[in-house]
Amino acid sequence: MMNNLSMQKLPKRIAGLHELAYNLWWSWHYEARELFKSLDRPLWKMTSHNPVKLLQQIPPYRLVAAAEDAAFLKEYDAVMASFRTGMLPAPTWFHSKYAHLDASLVAYFSFEFAFHNSLPLYAGGLGVLAGDYCKEASDLGIPMVAVGFMYPQGYFSQHISDDGWQEELYRQLNFNESPIIPLLTIQKQPVKVNVELDSRTVALTVWLVNIGRVKVYLLDTNLEENSPADRQLTARLYSGDRELRLQQEIILGVGGVRMLRALGVAPSIWHANEGHTTFMMLERCRELVAQGIDFPRAAEQVRNTSIFTTHTPVPAGNDAFHHSLMEKCFHNYWDKLTLNRESFLKLGTQDSDNTSFNMTVLGLRMAQQRNGVSQLHGAVCRSMWQCIWPEVAEKDIPIAAVTNGIHVPSWIAPQIARLYEKYLGDDWLARHDDPALWENIDNIPDEEIWAAHLWLKNKLISTVQARARGHWSENGGSPSSVLAMGALLDAEVLTIGFSRRFTDYKRASLILRDQNRLKRLVKDGLRPIQIVFAGKAHPNDHHGKQLIQEAYNIARNPEFGGRIAFVEDYDMHLARYLVPGVDVWLNTPRPTQEASGTSGMKAAVNGVPHLSVLDGWWYEAYNGTNGWAIHNDGNMNAAEQDTADANELYHILEDKVIPLYYDHDRGGVPHGWIKMVKQTIRSNIALFSARRMLKEYTEQLYLPAAQAGAMITQLQAQIDESVRAQKQKSATLLKS
Ligand SMILES: *Cc1c(COP(=O)(O)O)cnc(C)c1O
Repeated sequence: MMNNLSMQKLPKRIAGLHELAYNLWWSWHYEARELFKSLDRPLWKMTSHNPVKLLQQIPPYRLVAAAEDAAFLKEYDAVMASFRTGMLPAPTWFHSKYAHLDASLVAYFSFEFAFHNSLPLYAGGLGVLAGDYCKEASDLGIPMVAVGFMYPQGYFSQHISDDGWQEELYRQLNFNESPIIPLLTIQKQPVKVNVELDSRTVALTVWLVNIGRVKVYLLDTNLEENSPADRQLTARLYSGDRELRLQQEIILGVGGVRMLRALGVAPSIWHANEGHTTFMMLERCRELVAQGIDFPRAAEQVRNTSIFTTHTPVPAGNDAFHHSLMEKCFHNYWDKLTLNRESFLKLGTQDSDNTSFNMTVLGLRMAQQRNGVSQLHGAVCRSMWQCIWPEVAEKDIPIAAVTNGIHVPSWIAPQIARLYEKYLGDDWLARHDDPALWENIDNIPDEEIWAAHLWLKNKLISTVQARARGHWSENGGSPSSVLAMGALLDAEVLTIGFSRRFTDYKRASLILRDQNRLKRLVKDGLRPIQIVFAGKAHPNDHHGKQLIQEAYNIARNPEFGGRIAFVEDYDMHLARYLVPGVDVWLNTPRPTQEASGTSGMKAAVNGVPHLSVLDGWWYEAYNGTNGWAIHNDGNMNAAEQDTADANELYHILEDKVIPLYYDHDRGGVPHGWIKMVKQTIRSNIALFSARRMLKEYTEQLYLPAAQAGAMITQLQAQIDESVRAQKQKSATLLKS
């Protein structure tokens, strides 16, 4: 059912644009993006690449003209044909390998999803990963639905005040301009389910987002029958309030399962992406108990068909709720599981902390398949969560690792994709997770890849400068704030990008630690560097905001020559310019706290080398020739570690990065540097693609769960059969 109230009628010949606009498939297919763009270029830009909005605002005569323009129609037909093929259940990788499992369905639950900037339902890396996950599941034909929240105010837009303090602006999303569809019953009423919270009932409705073949169901409590406070429950992502957070997690976990049932969706595999979603496992236990199965067996069944992925070793990322709060919200629920307060709370409680209920603990206990998100993180998890299996040796702790990856078609810049197409073959995208493909990367002439990179770099700088100009002329920004926003960036200068959430362990200020040394680097007459920072701090993370302020104050300090910039409001849209447009991607987390990190993978896809602490994905990616690594010996306290790592960072810049970058031939082409660029591409794209990641999830985690599920179904049938036979026997006995 389409939400076409506000969209004008399209000429019949191009009516398919409507369906295309409501399936974000278009966003990772270049030709489809170009198709919308060609309808009205200025409007495409003004709508920040949002086809739903574009089709609403475009003057009707342009649509009529397009419907009669042979060149447009040729493109339209090609895109629509490819879209239709892309929606078919086969041929796909999944179907060709696992046709017998076509009827299985994975339900993927996540608190946030980053699909496109027109849907601000994400805060950062976790959401981007979840969004990329759905897109790749669609590409591979993995039968999947996803469940999350429709946040009408999303995460905040970031504004930096003149003195460098982050301000948060929450904007109401205009649903009519978003690629979301309200799900209605046959009677044209919103689909509804109820969830009990404390002693009241909250009603939920659901929105559909189409991600290629994958349907994403987004829950929303903003219904008239709910109290004003309950209507706001799903308004924003990540509020600071603990009770509100717990209520959100109940709505997602419990409400999400009920919603799927109401829609008649019957998953056989349930994947909880991070602890926020693990109440879904309890709700599935409750269903089984209601069918007469005792709790231990119900839990066993749920466990066998569940996958739990943990994403961070940082305590703040592992949600835990005080027992008193749990009691307040679940006192009506544990009975339904045939548990009492103690046995219920025990499901999420560790011996070491018997006052709080930990969502990660619940996930680890209630899913048979568990994983961390890089090889190193897997090992960190096994050590961190040994307490759950005190009798098991650390190396045997049952937590696997599947390293994250990024959705290549979403993150590759078209200028780079064109080179791969030209020199690696038209089918490069179909083969991109095959490491052998990338062995041919030297086919690309240095001059061409360099020219493509410089184009992207110029594009980034003009985008940043346009924002600074807007700030200057429209917002009355002070000169120093315009400077801080990157007005003086220079495309000739070696550019380092650092963009991610600002929070303690990510150590944004590591490169700012020795300001005199940094000043020398940025002001070097012959071989200067410049740094572009971007990123948000969590609204309650005061220290994160201080880190932003520190970077900002340096950026606006004339002594740094305008060569340090802090660009406001980092999001997917900005990332698409920033990541491929810089020369080096920098990452300096405090070791073992970065579970994976993914932005460096996005850089690598575009041939931007990585300079990073050996942590997360880089721990397994770095091979000595494909970027630079900051080593650490792990035996220092935090302050010593920071000093040592900063020193090593400056050292790498001074001795390795800068000389290599500025060593070019007479035509200005730095061949040594490009060798590094090509090594980056060769060694990383296949391995850190979402394609490789999803194939691993499927084969290592989903298949065992599907088999266990099938076995349970079989076993259940056998039990039912013997019960029936037994009954029949006694009935016959009685009769005789
Ligand atoms: C990729 C991405 C992230 C994740 O960055 P990390 O390297 O994992 O810290 C965060 N925010 C946005 C907007 C991204 O695109």
